[in-house]
Amino acid sequence: MVQWSPSSWRSRKAAHQVTYSSPEDLARYAADLAKLPPLVTSWEIESLKAQLADAARGGRFLLQGGDCAESFAQCTSDAITNKLKILLQMSLILVQGGQTPVIRVGRFAGQYAKPRSDDFETRDGVTLPSYRGDLVNRSPFTAADREPNPRLLLRAYERSALTLNFIRALVAGGFADLHHPENWDLDFARHSDLAEEYHGIARRVAESLRFMENIAGVRAAEMERVDFFTSHEALHLTYEQAQTRRVPRREGWYNLSTHFPWIGMRTADPTGAHVEYFRGIANPIAVKVGPSMSPAALAELLEVLHPDNEPGRLTLIHRFGNTKIAAGLPALIDVVRASGKLVLWCCDPMHGNTRTTAEGTKTRHFDDILGEVEQAFAIHQACGSKLGGVHIELTGENVTECLGGAPSGWSSGRP
Ligand code: PEP
Repeated sequence: MVQWSPSSWRSRKAAHQVTYSSPEDLARYAADLAKLPPLVTSWEIESLKAQLADAARGGRFLLQGGDCAESFAQCTSDAITNKLKILLQMSLILVQGGQTPVIRVGRFAGQYAKPRSDDFETRDGVTLPSYRGDLVNRSPFTAADREPNPRLLLRAYERSALTLNFIRALVAGGFADLHHPENWDLDFARHSDLAEEYHGIARRVAESLRFMENIAGVRAAEMERVDFFTSHEALHLTYEQAQTRRVPRREGWYNLSTHFPWIGMRTADPTGAHVEYFRGIANPIAVKVGPSMSPAALAELLEVLHPDNEPGRLTLIHRFGNTKIAAGLPALIDVVRASGKLVLWCCDPMHGNTRTTAEGTKTRHFDDILGEVEQAFAIHQACGSKLGGVHIELTGENVTECLGGAPSGWSSGRP
């Protein structure tokens, strides 16, 4: 194994990287980025690691969620608050139903790059580079927009900082206060068939809190402030490297662009550049595993990414799909058990359940999502393991990317 450094990934084959017309410009913007202040701190990162360690032992549950990809245009007050609202609502239900503390991690403040199966896209005989997320290029189908632009590295960093700044201010100001779940109502969800049930839960939680406070004679100050952590797929390694730093009085290197970076399924090759980069950072990390991950490859990943069995270090996010999880997951659970290592298991029921409609639109059906989660709990239990989290693609907007579930009652275009 080569000596690790923030740039040692460059000696490995890097999948899903971008070809820029001017590598000099890329290096210049990456150097600018490396001088800017970090987005998160090592204290926060270590605090999340401790919480994830607790979750791996069964003492907490991880809720990780957010947009498929953030866009610069959606860095707005409404989009950010709506995302927080839905995460808070979901965590309230999980706390109440699971009777376990919930760790809230957003897929936000950095989720600006996406892997693409094809480098190019052709429309009406015109072929242009694929859109890879606002970190890389822009989505309109013009040559100028699709040209990878290294200046966007700085724009993505700034948008991440703006998002995080607003989230921190909302949380510090009491937006996430469990005494006031009414702050989290979403307009479209108010009309859902399940709205009444949700409001009943929210009321009961707030009442129980007040009851406890009245008995104890103290206000549960902890409940006024809940933590939110950030995560993104650390796909663009030049961007990640630029924010990988040492910090005073701590060992090792931290990726300070996010608390919890993950390796996507397409870049989880144990010998590839992404795994090389991740093996040297001190953050808690996650890897997406699915039908393409062989038990042997997972065993290798455990060796490379989790050599010291450090509590909270590794989360495995499985995403098989509702029809494949029963056949695929038990073998991976066996590999982890045989390794003797502790990992946190998390289920992503979104990415293995994509279907394409007759019109070519990608969608998912709620029954598949629910089915995969239900199977995941049962399979872990049957294998003597425990599901400790869910990873959900979600948005606070009223969209039709997911079909089925509780209808909102008034949205046009929904089934
Ligand atoms: C994603 O989470 O955005 C993603 C692309 O997932 P996966 O790597 O599991 O396909």
